[in-house]
Formats: sequence, structure tokens, C-alpha cells
Amino acid sequence: MSEPLRYLLSDDEMPTAWYNLVPDLPAPPPPALHPGTLEPAGPDDFAPLFPMDLIMQEVTGDRFVDIPGEVIDIYRLWRATPLHRARRLERALGTPARIYYKYEGTSPAGSHKPNTAVPQAYYNAKAGITKLTTETGAGQWGTALAFACQMFGIECEVWQVRASYDQKPYRRAMMEAFGATVHPSPSDVTEYGRKLLEQDPSNPGSLGIAISEAVAVAAQDPEIRYALGSVLNHVLMHQTIIGEEALLQMAKAGDTPDLIVGCTGGGSNFGGLTFPFLREKLAGKMSPTILAVEPAACPSLTRGTYAYDFGDTAGMTPLMKMHTLGHDFIPDPIHAGGLRYHGMSPLVSHVYELGLIEAEAIQQSDCFAAGVQFARTEGIVPAPEPTHALAATIAEALRCKESGEEKAILTALCGHGMLDMAAYDRYFAGDIVDHDYPEAKVADALTRLPQV
Ligand SMILES: *Cc1c(COP(=O)(O)O)cnc(C)c1O
Repeated sequence: MSEPLRYLLSDDEMPTAWYNLVPDLPAPPPPALHPGTLEPAGPDDFAPLFPMDLIMQEVTGDRFVDIPGEVIDIYRLWRATPLHRARRLERALGTPARIYYKYEGTSPAGSHKPNTAVPQAYYNAKAGITKLTTETGAGQWGTALAFACQMFGIECEVWQVRASYDQKPYRRAMMEAFGATVHPSPSDVTEYGRKLLEQDPSNPGSLGIAISEAVAVAAQDPEIRYALGSVLNHVLMHQTIIGEEALLQMAKAGDTPDLIVGCTGGGSNFGGLTFPFLREKLAGKMSPTILAVEPAACPSLTRGTYAYDFGDTAGMTPLMKMHTLGHDFIPDPIHAGGLRYHGMSPLVSHVYELGLIEAEAIQQSDCFAAGVQFARTEGIVPAPEPTHALAATIAEALRCKESGEEKAILTALCGHGMLDMAAYDRYFAGDIVDHDYPEAKVADALTRLPQV
């Protein structure tokens, strides 16, 4: 008998509800605050930006929320995604550890992002919204939202961080193939963008700036809303489809994870994979260590301050309590564009404060080395973001080799890197620079945290 390499689920076995971790936590997360009054933000404060169904999901106390049939019908284009056992990588490492990876690269965008883009487009279309605006860093979120809007017949307008717009023309073309309009950010479309371009015509942009532009356009038109690809509670909840499937697939493999590892930019693929397992852990049914891995150049969890801050650079969003490097901190241009965000999901920040997860920061050259080793053994070129999780996975597997421990490790391979080959090209040319933690820049940005 050959050894199984993948664990699949049939359509009938696919989970039909998303999971909300909040009611299972020992303490509730601190509420978002209105930026003017500093009072807890109510549903009306979010209404200019999001449709009511999503606002209610943001604050719900229900443990499970049913996935609408219209959303399941689109999920089924690529879900359930496979859970792989990385046997060839295990053999190459000579480790007794068993390594599993949940592969989200089979989606239309090539990452986990459509898991939330599809329900977000669905609830907006249902509310009569005709256009969604958003930002994109590496291009993954813009691609996912462009696809999702197309599925429900609404328009999509994307502000792509200028550095990425210039470096990744194929991401822009892919968004356009899915029918979106794409601007480089800062752009001359918004007042804030024009102001920044006046100060510096070569401003490379940042996720925070692009969010400010997309929010500004949505806030001024009642038929336009904004969509965020990470960070918020409802986004993490939509992503739990990953972990709910993985729980069923690990059971098929007859195994239980001892360690679960994910990369964290805003925290959505990490929360999506790990929160259903954290539920099982809190219920005493398993006891995995849960590890978040972030880039050394943008280490919000391991080095950031836990404080109320804005989600965007211009300071227009409600205040969220999160691990932050300061809302106007601009990270060095590492290749994992999806991990270049100044803050961390309030929910991931909260579970970190509660001591329920661990975190670690890794330099990008170590990540690319892990990505190449993974590609050469497993046959999938990973996106630069999940190479952070792979580097930590491989390091742990090598520790198991030393100690002889037979751990089961589960990791999120949240996207493939086929539109990130320019970054690999730089790596092979020896041009990858590691950026140290920018202590002074962060200290400066933190002086401008809102006073709460
Ligand atoms: C967007 C993105 C990330 C970072 O976002 P999270 O919300 O932290 O998951 C990581 N990996 C990939 C492939 C992405 O597209």
C-alpha cells in the first residue's frame, strides 16, 4: 500500500458554518472605539463602510454562523482545499516529525483571500451596493475581491501600493482580467493621495495609505462600500473554513497536531487555520502549541505595542486595540508584501495577550531558503508570505531530528508564488537584503498613537 499524500473532503463533507472564537475565550476582546468620541463604536459608526450583515458578524456572540448557499456554491469551485502530508520534505530533512500543510493556493486568486472576498461581495450585493473599493499590497487581496465582485455582478476599484503596482504588472493584469479598475497608491484620485504625491512624487505607498484612499472613496457615496481583506473579526471568521476543513482532514489522517504554524500579516490565514483548533484546545480535546510567524522587518506581534490605533495611515478608521508599530510606520520593502502591515488583527492580538498563542519573527533570507527547499521537495513554489511559516516548520522538524521527538506539525500554505517569481529571481541572484528591526522608526511612529 502506498502512503497517503493528500486528505480530501467530498462536497457533502464540506463544513457549512464559520466559527466565531470570541464566545469561547476566557475574556472578551476590547471593543473598537469611535475615533472622535473614544466611546465604543456602534453598528452605525461602521455603516458608511460596511453592509449591516457584515457589521453584525463583526460583533456577533454566536459561536457558529451558517454559510449562505450562494457562497457555498462559489466556494465549491475550489473547496474543500487539500490537506497534504509533506512526506518528501520530511525525508529530505531526515526528521521523525510528521508535517502536514493545508494548501490554499488552489483558489482562483492563488491564496486564501477568496474565502472572505466571496462572502463580502455577496453581503454587499444583497444590500444593493454597486461597487466595492479596496487596497492591495502584494496583489492577492485585490485579485480575490475582483473575482468575488465579478461573481455577484458588482464593480471593484482597487488601490494597489505603488511599489507593488510597479513590480507586479501581472497582478494588476489579473485584477483587470476579473474586471476590476486598478490605481497605483498614492493616486491622484483622492485628496489624501494628491497631498502625498505633492510632498513626494515617488512615494512608494503602503497598505495604510492605500486603505485611506479606498475608505475615502467609499465613505462619500451611499452605493459604494469598502472591503478589508484581513484584520477584522468577520474576515477571520470567514477564514475559519480553512481550520474547520483541516480538523476533519487531520481526523481522516488519524493524527492530531502538536504544533500549528501560520504566517501573520493582518492575521487572517493564521486565525482561519488555528481558531477551530484553539476551540478544541480550550475544550481540553487536544493541546497543540500555536505559533504565529511574522517578518523581522515588520514584527507587530513580537515587538509592537498593544494599544488603540488606527487601521489606516490617514487616521479615518475606528480605533482598534491591537499590536501596532504605529499607523504611519512604513515597513522596509520586503518581498512578502502581504505581511507589511503596521498592525495585527485585534482578535489575534487579544489571544496573544491571553497567552493562548506564541509568536516569532524571521528574516526573509531564511524564509526564501525554506521556500526553495519546499519547492524542490513538494513541487509547489510558495508565496513569500507562507515561507515564514515554512521556515519555522522546518526549524522545528530539525529540532525533532535532534531530539528524536515524533511531533505532528500542521502549517498553512496560504498561497502559491507563481506571480512572485521576480522575488525568487532576486533571491537566486543573491540580492535579498535582510532588514533589521527599525527601532528608531517605530519609536517615532509610536509617538503619534492616538491618546486614549
Ligand atoms: C494577504 C496574504 C497574507 C497576509 O494576510 P493574513 O491576513 O495575515 O493572512 C499572507 N499570505 C498570503 C498568500 C496572502 O495573500
